[in-house]
Amino acid sequence: MGKLIFGCIVLFFCFNWTYPLKLQAEYSQIILDKDSTLIHAYLTKDDKWRLKTELHEIIPQLKKTLIYKEDKYFYYHPGINPISIGRAFFNNLFQMRTTSGASTITMQVVRLLEPKSRTYLNKFWEMFRAFQLEWYYTKEEILQLYFNLVPYGGNVEGIKSASLLYFDKMPQKLSLAEIVTLTIIPNRPTSLVMGKNNDLIQRERDKWLTRFVKEGVFPKKAIRNAKAEILNATRQEAPQKAPHFCNHLRSLYPDQNPIFTHLHLEKQEKVQQLTQNYVRRLAHLNIYNAAVLVINNRTHAVEAYIGSPDFTDKKNAGEVDGIQAIRSPGSTLKPLAYGLAFDKGMLTAKTILADVPIDFNGFEPENFSRNFIGKVTAEEALARSLNIPAVKILQEIGLNSFISKLKRANFRQISLDQKKLGLSLVLGGCGVTLENLVGMYASFAHRGKYSTLQYFKTATKSDKNENTSLLSEAATYVITNILTQAQRPDLPNAFENTFRVPRVAWKTGTSFGRRDAWSIGYNEHYTVGVWIGNFSGEGVNHLVGGEIATPLLFEIFNTLDYNSPKNWFRAPESLQVRWVCSETGLPPNSFCKNQVVDSYLPLISPSKRCEHLREVFISENASESYCLACLPNKGYRKAMYPNLSVELSAFYQLTGITHDRIPPHSSACTRLIDNQEEAPKITSPSADKQYIIDREDPPQMQLQCKAAHEVRKIYWYLNEKFYKATRPNQAIFFTPELGLMKIGCTDDQGRQSQITIQVQYE
Ligand SMILES: [Zn+2]
Ligand SMILES: [Zn+2]
Repeated sequence: MGKLIFGCIVLFFCFNWTYPLKLQAEYSQIILDKDSTLIHAYLTKDDKWRLKTELHEIIPQLKKTLIYKEDKYFYYHPGINPISIGRAFFNNLFQMRTTSGASTITMQVVRLLEPKSRTYLNKFWEMFRAFQLEWYYTKEEILQLYFNLVPYGGNVEGIKSASLLYFDKMPQKLSLAEIVTLTIIPNRPTSLVMGKNNDLIQRERDKWLTRFVKEGVFPKKAIRNAKAEILNATRQEAPQKAPHFCNHLRSLYPDQNPIFTHLHLEKQEKVQQLTQNYVRRLAHLNIYNAAVLVINNRTHAVEAYIGSPDFTDKKNAGEVDGIQAIRSPGSTLKPLAYGLAFDKGMLTAKTILADVPIDFNGFEPENFSRNFIGKVTAEEALARSLNIPAVKILQEIGLNSFISKLKRANFRQISLDQKKLGLSLVLGGCGVTLENLVGMYASFAHRGKYSTLQYFKTATKSDKNENTSLLSEAATYVITNILTQAQRPDLPNAFENTFRVPRVAWKTGTSFGRRDAWSIGYNEHYTVGVWIGNFSGEGVNHLVGGEIATPLLFEIFNTLDYNSPKNWFRAPESLQVRWVCSETGLPPNSFCKNQVVDSYLPLISPSKRCEHLREVFISENASESYCLACLPNKGYRKAMYPNLSVELSAFYQLTGITHDRIPPHSSACTRLIDNQEEAPKITSPSADKQYIIDREDPPQMQLQCKAAHEVRKIYWYLNEKFYKATRPNQAIFFTPELGLMKIGCTDDQGRQSQITIQVQYE
């Protein structure tokens, strides 16, 4: 006998080495919200609902029921139960009925792992595997495997799947009646189908419950209550809430299971409802899609993620995730450019900028309204989202330094395209996602520090770039204040009468061709991004960020943040206050009459004194002006004249805005004027360009320049020969000559400039 047992043990280890146990059950991926409620489950690759039951989800009542029903000596045997095997063998031998309970739970697990036909040889194989399971796993783990693999008919496997799909609850919430129901179905999964023959199932259930009373397994009262429960369960859909959110995470982490997230289901459903209702009201304008992302600013957690108004809306491509779609951002990147310019000491909120037509090497941006304003403060230029000042600011801060900031904020498409991008980037000439933009604005709510949006409760690799600084705290505060001003042209008409406008800093954007309307806002609690448009990419005249996207943004803030304390961002100590001249935004000079208060960064912000006027010597009757070289001994006086930039004075002349102009320079002056800074700038034709013309019918080309404000006359030269004298901005034309052409122009102050062009015949 001793030798036999020893032989069996040796044989077991030989087999164990040759046929190692492999447990490769694939489970349905599940995604849970912030309260660990299951919000979404996916079919396995073999199209099964097989949700993994965790140990803590197997409650004592469930264990007790199963063990009593299937394998009373489960905790005492090593995988097989010799007594019941003997009994089954005896029964079979005398052709009696097959006794249930011959297989232990362990052997049932083996059969679930490796289904085989029921032969004597296979029976031995199963016994070997059962030993193996018991050798490597605890009893609790074997029970867990059983609950995970047990079939419920159709493609439903495991008690968690059954519990969710039939009773719409997690297994630990099951009642005794439900537990008994779920332990009897696996015995006959094809005939006991819930929803089809519930009466039969209920009778079977009650039979078992009666046995439980007799044998004192559960208290009588519990059994009475269980019997009173009517079984009316039917097969339900698997939970598929927040589908865009879950699909996005699944695509990022296909192997992580379960995925614990920060999604706030209540907020998700509220915002989803608001979005759906809102977009329904836009259908008559041919606008069908929207996407909304809500971030909790305290935790950086993604709390609501609405990829489209209705995931199931096939007609309007509802499955597309508008939060990850790459679109043109319109003007939504401008605040970052202004913030960077502030940090680099290029401007403050009150700095006067010129909103006048400019040619940036062939790129001539227009404003959304197609008008130019002339002089404008930086804060107004940002609040009104003017294009020229933004492009000029980007040119000054440098395209590369702007792009490198965007890269730090995870703007992936911009990083991929960086070699192709130009100054139009700041007007939306690039590709971004709503997620990118919301991430950037969330950093404005975080004193300029960017951190990755938090989807997961468990840390992932992408959490690394915590706290990349995009802007200083001071710049962020200044930008936030500008974006909070309620008196703004991008506020929808008569908005204040119908809506409570929440205290939010926000920026709108409209892409070229009116394909995208954006509105992104933040306060201390939330950052919310709204995109509205069509997934088809169709542009619609009504798609304007302020008009279309802002109302939904405010609805969301009013719903999510209604009762929150009205805290607001505090000015950092590094930011100080000073008086500046309202004509330039610079520290006032003795002649600066109108002064305003402005915030600035000491040692960084512009500190040059204002020179909005300059002193000029003129004749008593103001008919001519003098320099020190031609100043007469008497008969002159000092006068102050506006000190305008070349662009601004050209703009004033073009638009007929009158201003004090310096009288023409004294004709008696002999000094060679070398101040080239204000020399006329030739704008047409373009310098160093090749022009190909028709030999038979050469075109007329226009001569144009921008001259300083006091200039009254311009003299044109073609190939160093005098051609014509004109007023500044007067249109004149010439016929180009073949070859290299020199084009020169001189103003009445003697300042000159010259360009060359190449002319060729076709
Ligand atoms: Zn001034
Ligand atoms: Zn002079």
